[in-house]
Amino acid sequence: MQQTRPFPPTELIDQAEEEEAIRLAPAPDLKNWVVANFLTIGGTLHNPDHDHIAELLHDNDEFLAFAWASSAAVAKKRMVLGQCEKIMFNQGGWKKARQEQQMRDWFGFVPTYLITIDASYCENTNDRNFCALLDHELYHIGVERDEEGEMLYSDMTGLPKHYLAGHDVEEFFGVVKRWGANESVKRLVEITKNAPFVPDVDISKCCGTCMI
Ligand SMILES: [Zn+2]
Repeated sequence: MQQTRPFPPTELIDQAEEEEAIRLAPAPDLKNWVVANFLTIGGTLHNPDHDHIAELLHDNDEFLAFAWASSAAVAKKRMVLGQCEKIMFNQGGWKKARQEQQMRDWFGFVPTYLITIDASYCENTNDRNFCALLDHELYHIGVERDEEGEMLYSDMTGLPKHYLAGHDVEEFFGVVKRWGANESVKRLVEITKNAPFVPDVDISKCCGTCMI
């Protein structure tokens, strides 16, 4: 198992600074590390909420790919440090061909989902923030469930029914201040009353720069 937290290639950030533009690069080592630690039973940070991703990847390794971005993107006036996309090129023609070619040149295939992570953030942040960011992006690959919470499987493929999931909680501080918490915010408050589930020691076991 790969135990050391993956770091982005330094030349990516250097080259981006030189060009004064954002550069992107495939991150196969990041994928291997996420699979080993988050998506494998017995992995140090294994999260059963992502078991459907593990199952889909087991069936088809082209289900998910990772990329580094040299710096954060800004969307709706917020810094974007990570992004999970379902690769659906809804335009056609050369635009679609060009984007698919980019994926094939990078990965050798066109993935179903692509997770892009801000390399300059990851280079400077601590292990806990790094792991939380990756867990966050993985949660964007949702699975449909029945009322009992059991995973739903597609009749066509026999595999979990996945979709691009939105956040559980999205509310403005001002609205909560003025009007109180809605059900999802109340649930969040309940969850924050408990200590975090993943102890620091587990994180240092698999990402720790302190372990080198
Ligand atoms: Zn998100």
